[in-house]
Amino acid sequence: MFYKSLLLCLLLPLASMAQTPAPKAVLPLVRGKIVYDSTYTSTAILTDAQLFSKAGQWFKSEFKYPGSGVMRVDKESHSVTGTGIFKIPVSSSGHYYWMRINLTLQHTTAGYRFIVDKIFEQPVEPGISNEYSKLEYRWWDYRKGKHWSAEDDALFTGFVDALGKMRKSLQNAFALSAQAQQPKFKALAFYSTIVEPDHVDFARDCISFYTKMAADRNFVFDTTTNWKKLNPANLKDYQVVVWINDFPQDEAQRKTFEDFMENGGAWMGYHVSGYNDGTTKWPWIVQFLGATFHNNNWPPLPAKLIVDDNTHPATKSLPKNYVAPITEWYGWKPNPRDNKDIKVLLTMDPANYPLGKKDVIRGGDIPVVWTNTRYRMIYLNMGHGDAVFNSPLQNKMFSDAMLWLGTGAK
Ligand code: ZN
Repeated sequence: MFYKSLLLCLLLPLASMAQTPAPKAVLPLVRGKIVYDSTYTSTAILTDAQLFSKAGQWFKSEFKYPGSGVMRVDKESHSVTGTGIFKIPVSSSGHYYWMRINLTLQHTTAGYRFIVDKIFEQPVEPGISNEYSKLEYRWWDYRKGKHWSAEDDALFTGFVDALGKMRKSLQNAFALSAQAQQPKFKALAFYSTIVEPDHVDFARDCISFYTKMAADRNFVFDTTTNWKKLNPANLKDYQVVVWINDFPQDEAQRKTFEDFMENGGAWMGYHVSGYNDGTTKWPWIVQFLGATFHNNNWPPLPAKLIVDDNTHPATKSLPKNYVAPITEWYGWKPNPRDNKDIKVLLTMDPANYPLGKKDVIRGGDIPVVWTNTRYRMIYLNMGHGDAVFNSPLQNKMFSDAMLWLGTGAK
């Protein structure tokens, strides 16, 4: 008898666990948010104007309720974003939910990217608040078996059905192939807005450059000013980390970055991101970069650069030399060229000396772009002011470098 009740005690928790209802619908979660993100190829390639007008028509025919509509056309990223409002009936007694979603249709060289996010639900049901709130709140509980309402199953299966129909309708309207493509890789760029204004200007230009490129070349380029996101859980999703004019703020972030790089992660750093001096006290970064800041020119100036190696994937489109647009240039001690693991790709042409007015660089060997061959990394010294992206030639290096890091392009 004793054994029997013991057995019962042991079995009961198992039985109650087994009763947790499995969710009837599965919604895609991206870092805790419900996001549908798919890229389709298309046989019909539209101009931006055609895309915008066609998307407008599609929105109108798809969403008839007030509040729906195309909100924003973004020519920079070739995308159109709108709000869709629709109804999901959940019971025969007439209960239903209003759903409000954000839809983005973006034209990329890979085809068309369709994103649904910012999803809200509003129950129409007596006895509770009939207001919009994020669908995630209900979903987080629902997927653990903690239903808010007996109608949750109907709501979530209804939502998945509605999304399926919406995608079908979009595929028909835009002649999209059913085959969705995954982005080639994901990059996360860290920057700061509380630094030198010229460094922020560059960061903004850099973000706009890579955001457009990501749409064209089918990769994800996320950005953040929150350096706390330099943590292992967050980096799991990314293959490339970019530092635009800033660097980790504390020990935990430094350690996260070391582990990321030692385990095959890729890094692209601009300008101040490579700055370190006697006060930095981070030996790992010195061996990683192979360099410590020594001097600089002031004010920012253009400079003739020598291309040491134009067989590398990042510099393959560069001629033997070119004039780089206005930026502030750094000299280094130790010189990265003296490190056997460093491959210098671009060097300051000594013909520029004396370089500067207030602070003058009068000589020396100054590598400008290099890679540490023990890692998947590239450091680029450019990054001061709003003129850096004025050279299509140099821009090609910036994009080739990103593709090399993200895809291993040869
Ligand atoms: Zn600077």
